[in-house]
Amino acid sequence: MTQGFLPPWEVVVVHVPAKIVAPVISCRDMDYRVGFGYDIHPLKEKRSLIVGGVDIPSELGTIAHSDGDVLVHAIIDALLGAIASGNIGMHFPDTDPQNRGRESISMLREVVLLLEKEGFRINNVDSTIVLESPRLSPYVEKMKQRLSEVLKIEGDRINIKPKRGEGLGDVGRGKAIEAYAVVIVYKDNR
Ligand code: MG
Repeated sequence: MTQGFLPPWEVVVVHVPAKIVAPVISCRDMDYRVGFGYDIHPLKEKRSLIVGGVDIPSELGTIAHSDGDVLVHAIIDALLGAIASGNIGMHFPDTDPQNRGRESISMLREVVLLLEKEGFRINNVDSTIVLESPRLSPYVEKMKQRLSEVLKIEGDRINIKPKRGEGLGDVGRGKAIEAYAVVIVYKDNR
């Protein structure tokens, strides 16, 4: 190893003219955490399909204890993962009758409050939804608006990528919908 080597989080290099005083923020001042979430729900006729808090016109909808919003469930798991606080089932058990048919967006609101209580803010969310039909891209902007309001971050910090399962597995055969989400949250320790 090169003599005098320091890991990147120890190195703060600021190139400024002598008379300008720039604030120096080290990574130690900011506590960044990453979280990952995944969810899947089976699909059935005569059920509603709610994704990202948006009601999508569809012949098939999700079978679930709550409203079955896979995207919101994946984001909730990602946020809880980031603050090492378990998973959606631990916070909103399906044995609790209060969670029957519950709007997932309201659960997300509670999780955002939990994060805030712990001193964390959300930096950004990236996600993928896999569904064979209908196409979700026409609804992405509406989902982003809905999530932006609940997550309390700008829409350009939320990314939603709809994909198809290309005929593979239960998702590809149109029998299920799944979602993946990654978040970064941070606590400013200054
Ligand atoms: Mg779920």
